[in-house]
Amino acid sequence: MKVYADNAATTKMSRTAIDAMLPYLDKFYGNPSSLYSIGQEAAEAMQNARETMARCLGCEAREITFTSGGSEADNQAIISAAVLGEKKGKKHIISTAFEHHAVLHTLNRLEKQGFEITLLDVHENGVVTPEEVASAIRDDTCLVTIMYANNEIGTIQPIAGIGEVCKKKGVLFHTDAVQAAGHLHIDVKAQNIDMLTLSAHKFHGPKGIGALYARRGIPLTNIIEGGAQERGKRAGTENVASIVSMAAAFEEACDHIDENAKKISALRDKLIDGLSKIPHSVLNGDREQRLPGNVNFCFEGIEGESLLLLLDQKGISASSGSACTSGSLDPSHVLLAIGRPHEIAHGSLRLTLCEWNTEEEVDYMLQVIPEVVSYLRSISPIWRDLAANKKQFIL
Ligand SMILES: *Cc1c(COP(=O)(O)O)cnc(C)c1O
Repeated sequence: MKVYADNAATTKMSRTAIDAMLPYLDKFYGNPSSLYSIGQEAAEAMQNARETMARCLGCEAREITFTSGGSEADNQAIISAAVLGEKKGKKHIISTAFEHHAVLHTLNRLEKQGFEITLLDVHENGVVTPEEVASAIRDDTCLVTIMYANNEIGTIQPIAGIGEVCKKKGVLFHTDAVQAAGHLHIDVKAQNIDMLTLSAHKFHGPKGIGALYARRGIPLTNIIEGGAQERGKRAGTENVASIVSMAAAFEEACDHIDENAKKISALRDKLIDGLSKIPHSVLNGDREQRLPGNVNFCFEGIEGESLLLLLDQKGISASSGSACTSGSLDPSHVLLAIGRPHEIAHGSLRLTLCEWNTEEEVDYMLQVIPEVVSYLRSISPIWRDLAANKKQFIL
C-alpha cells in the first residue's frame, strides 16, 4: 500500500487546480501587461483570481499581492514592517521561537542590522497567549509576527486575540498562515490581521506561487525590483497560470473547510489514539488547538531518520518534522522550542493528512509504525541501555 502522509510539506494538486491552469499555459499565454487582447485576457483572469482570493480572506482585491510562495511573502511582510518601523525609530520585533525559517532567518538578518528581536516562549503545548504578546509589546515595537498554525506540530495560535492586542497597542501584526489557509476559517478584518502569508502548494495548488495580504495603507517594500507589476510592489512577469490555479484551489478548499476538517480530524484522532499506545512515546503539541491533519510524535530510543527510511520501504511517505531541515542532523527547532530534549527530539515522526487519505491507510500505518518502532528499538544501543536500567527513560 502507498500512503502519502506528508501534506504539510506539500500537497498533490487537485483536478480543479490543474484544469484551471491549463488554458493559461496554452491558449491565453499573453503577457498581462500587454495591451492586445491575449494579454488582456490574462490580465482579466488574474484580476478574477485576485478577487476570489480576497473574498476567501475577507479583504479587498487590491490588498492581495502575488508572490513566488510563502517564503517570499514572509520576507516581504517582515521587511516592509521593519522599513516602516525604522522610519519611526521603532526597531523591536516580537515573534516566537518556533516560526518557519522564512520568518526566523529574515528576523536574524534584521537583528544584524540593529533590530532587537523578542522570541516568545511557546510552552510545552506549542501555544502562545495574547496576554504574553501584550506584555512583550514596547513603545518601540514595530511588528508582531506569529504563525497561524505550526507546520511541524500543528498547533493553532489564538490569532484573533493576538490581533486585538496588536490593534489596541498600534503595532502591525503579520501572520504566516501557510498551514492554515484553506484548512481553517480566516477573516483578516474580523481577526485584526494586518498582513498574512499563504502558499498554494499547501492546499492542493501549484508550487512556486503564493500571496501576501497587506491591509490597505500599509506600504510594501519591494523584495524583487524591476517592472511595475503588482502595483509596483513585486516586479516580474506574473505567473498567470499558477495564479489562476491557486485561486481555484483556494476557493475549493475554503468552500469545503468544515467537511474536510471533520473527515480529516477523525482520521487524525484514530492515528493519535493508536500511536499513543506505543510505550515511551509522546504526542507533540496541544491535542485540542491542533490542525485537523497533524500528527507528531516522539519515540524514545530511536532515530527519526531511520524510521522514515523504513517507512518509505513500506510505502509510507512521512517526515521527521520540517521538509526544509531534513538532510541536516540538527534536531527540529520546533521540538526544542517546546522543550523536548535533544535525544527525544531526534526520534520524531510527523504524519500530515488530507481529505484524500482513507481509513484503510490509517489502519495500515497503525499496523506498520509500531512494528518499525519496535524493530528500531531492538537494534538501538540507546534502547539497550534504557531497557537495562543503565539510563533513565525520559518519556
Ligand atoms: C511551507 C511553508 C512556508 C514556505 O512556503 P513556500 O511556498 O514553500 O515558500 C512558510 N511557512 C510555513 C508555515 C510553511 O508551512
